Amino acid sequence: MHEVSIALSMLDIAAEKCRESGYNKIDSIRLKIGRASGVMTDALIFAFDVVKTDTIASGASVIIDEIPVSGSCKDCGRDFVAEDTYVLCCPRCGGMAFMINTGRELEILDMEVS
Ligand SMILES: [Zn+2]
Repeated sequence: MHEVSIALSMLDIAAEKCRESGYNKIDSIRLKIGRASGVMTDALIFAFDVVKTDTIASGASVIIDEIPVSGSCKDCGRDFVAEDTYVLCCPRCGGMAFMINTGRELEILDMEVS
């Protein structure tokens, strides 16, 4: 499962940051997940619950900030926020010349340690 490897690498990063700062317990981790990142948030939370066992994050809660897909269109020059996960054309003018600005995020936003 894709989400397990993501959870593992995020846990690695979080644990390393935590130790670097001189702490040994992670209380919560906040993740920024774009809706177009291809990650299923429910599956990621579930995966985290599994991989955090017996780590310094065993008591950590995982909070996910979902980032909507947004972009700007070169045809009509306007910015848009998409309702769907995938953008096939500009929702305002139907143009195909657009850039995706947000929605692909997959990173740790912040975390609480003690
Ligand atoms: Zn447009």
